[in-house]
Amino acid sequence: MSEQQPRLRKALDGIPTYRPGRPAAATADGTPAYKLSSNENPYPPLPGVLEQALTATGALNRYPDMGCTAMLEELAARFDVPMEHLATGTGSVGIAQQLVQSTAGPGDEVVYAWRSFEAYPIITQISGADSVQVPLTKDEGHDLEAMAEAVTGRTRLVFVCNPNNPTGAALRRAELERFLDRVPGEVLVVLDEAYREFVRDPEVPDGLELYRDRPNVCVLRTFSKAYGLAGLRVGFAVAHPPVAAALRKTAVPFGVSQVAQDAAVASLRAEAALLERVGALVEERARVREALLAQGWTVVPSQANFFWLRLGDRTADFAAACEEAGVVVRPFAGEGVRVTIGEPEANDLVLRVAEKFREQL
Ligand SMILES: *Cc1c(COP(=O)(O)O)cnc(C)c1O
Repeated sequence: MSEQQPRLRKALDGIPTYRPGRPAAATADGTPAYKLSSNENPYPPLPGVLEQALTATGALNRYPDMGCTAMLEELAARFDVPMEHLATGTGSVGIAQQLVQSTAGPGDEVVYAWRSFEAYPIITQISGADSVQVPLTKDEGHDLEAMAEAVTGRTRLVFVCNPNNPTGAALRRAELERFLDRVPGEVLVVLDEAYREFVRDPEVPDGLELYRDRPNVCVLRTFSKAYGLAGLRVGFAVAHPPVAAALRKTAVPFGVSQVAQDAAVASLRAEAALLERVGALVEERARVREALLAQGWTVVPSQANFFWLRLGDRTADFAAACEEAGVVVRPFAGEGVRVTIGEPEANDLVLRVAEKFREQL
């Protein structure tokens, strides 16, 4: 056997591996463990969705509709956008990767806030482009002033994560519009709105308002969070035709399964149930934040289905204490912990851990 190894691209050296939220194992005494580490929806798929998905499995010997026609028609009607402004992908992470692939390569730059969604550095490095990470403000939000200044002649794409994962802080209309007015039209601005359905602040703009008269703005949405279809890997982008066409070129052929397409359509048709569930999670979010504030914590208001505790070097201890109590959260070593809003019982367990932890600080 030859000693030689296949030559892999230098760009892959040192890429951080995406760390999925740890699964929840049962605790030692057999009490159930809750997974609050991946911002998943604690509710099962919406009414009617499983039936559609099951029906679609009857044709698993066939390739899916490559054009995702039924899904795009449903999305076009639901969001009042032309079909040619839409593209689907294997989750919005898949689409984000296609957008970087479509715009940036070696020598180019991708600008984003940090800390933000951990997929951004990975997909940027895979493309061979350089990441330009702009630190968050004191309030755990995007520093749009500094981000605008970070845009140079080498910048090809800017990610704006609104609300921001993992802090939950959201940008408001006026500041975001001012930023978009400053970014040159040849730079693609991607508004990653994975948590849009959970936004309640009326001043936080819907990216679909902002993209319409801005050819360099693209909006990303997903069925993974509010819609509860994380396991099916389906998301979509709304963008002007040249960008949407680039997304069709860079898509993995037949990437979105028929099960995912049909489940997405059924989910869009179950809007009343969706709003009810999202409403319940938003109420839980408020309840949990109030309780944490009462315990003496500083918690930035979250517009998403999670909250953020900046714990610095106590991060790992807090995550371990949660685990002991039967809840898996998402620690970012040395920075803080992101906790998904889950079932009320799970949230209560976290509150109990937080209270004890607070007393020891
Ligand atoms: C969860 C998440 C996504 C969506 O991921 P999918 O690939 O659609 O499951 C995208 N962006 C951010 C910021 C997220 O937190």
